[in-house]
Amino acid sequence: MNKQTIDQVELSGKRVLVRVDFNVPLDEGKVTDDTRIRESLPTIKKIMQAGGKAILMSHLGRPKGKKNPDMSLMPAAVRLAELLGRPVTMAPDCIGDEVVKVVNAMQPGQVVLLENLRFYAEEEKNDPEFAKKLAKLGDLYVNDAFGSAHRAHASTEGVTQFIKPAVAGYLMQKELEYLGKALANPARPFVAVLGGSKISGKIDVIENLLGKVDAILVGGGMAYTFYKAQGGEIGESILESDKLDLAHELLGKAESSKTDLILPPDSRVCDELKSGVATSVSASDKVPSGKLAADIGPETEKLYAAKILAAKTIVWNGPMGVFEIDEFASGTRKVAEALVQATKAGAVTVVGGGDSAAAMEKFGLAKEVSHVSTGGGASLEFLEGKQLPGVVALTDA
Ligand code: ADP
Ligand code: MG
Repeated sequence: MNKQTIDQVELSGKRVLVRVDFNVPLDEGKVTDDTRIRESLPTIKKIMQAGGKAILMSHLGRPKGKKNPDMSLMPAAVRLAELLGRPVTMAPDCIGDEVVKVVNAMQPGQVVLLENLRFYAEEEKNDPEFAKKLAKLGDLYVNDAFGSAHRAHASTEGVTQFIKPAVAGYLMQKELEYLGKALANPARPFVAVLGGSKISGKIDVIENLLGKVDAILVGGGMAYTFYKAQGGEIGESILESDKLDLAHELLGKAESSKTDLILPPDSRVCDELKSGVATSVSASDKVPSGKLAADIGPETEKLYAAKILAAKTIVWNGPMGVFEIDEFASGTRKVAEALVQATKAGAVTVVGGGDSAAAMEKFGLAKEVSHVSTGGGASLEFLEGKQLPGVVALTDA
């Protein structure tokens, strides 16, 4: 990574302003999933142990620029304190005199969490005055919120204009290392598994990966737009009829690139997308009329598992079927299991995308692959080959 990291800066006695992603789900004032808070612990602990003062900031939900007690970060402060086994001071706001007072009173090793950044519309507008007020709270800046790095907001981008150095925290570093290494310098064969509901969300990913990867294994709803574009029968399967030309074009591009674009030969089909329905297996280009394809079929599972096991680098984005319904979770589960096996055999395996990460969690396999990205949208933009503004803004190494 060509950006400075938290390991390269002096933290002792410093006010370290850290952008974390504490956008956690809440229920009745309690954090129901603390994964994101846990992911930030290495960075926070590092600052505490080095004798720095950790001033944490995050957004939570969509308060749309207004103060809303339901979206206070207080529950995150409570959970963080439990995880650290040390008190965490909740600041009354994220900017202003009161906050400055709280920060000035900090001792080395202490932790303060600022209140929800999105209580100010200026945050998402990347307002320079607001960014300047945030910057005043720290001597240096650490970004550990990979999941927000694809947005140029005051706390991810603007603030870096007024505070230097701006460095990557451990989570950010890990994300960039795995995603970056996979794309920039992959051990081969390099295989991408792409699924999800629609082609439209993945066009840029496919275009970016064509020519880079040895094979793209297609699953999920988008497969059927590809089949339709080739004249196949797809029944009632999800179809983006305005993307048929594009599907055709992508197939053509794949043809003339070194990448094999592989479509699922068979699919599990049903009459209706709900649990308890009868399923049968059909050739993916001969789905009977009235039926819809909701998962890849057993032959595809075998084919994809074999391709995954023969690869040295595998990037996966997008479920193979409607995995939320047990009847259609098999393809996604088989791909997840193949990734686990490949990891054990020494391959680098990276999962990106919110729903794909949720599937890994659901199957209890998230810890068994090299890396599951914490940033849904950000990891997708990374796979699209885009520069993330929150990363670009960090100080060069
Ligand atoms: P990610 O969040 O990992 O990038 P997407 O958001 O692109 O993934 O897609 C996830 C959704 O795709 C899931 O909710 C899943 O139900 C849906 N999906 C997968 N296969 C199909 C299919 N054959 N028909 C309809 N929806 C599908
Ligand atoms: Mg999604």
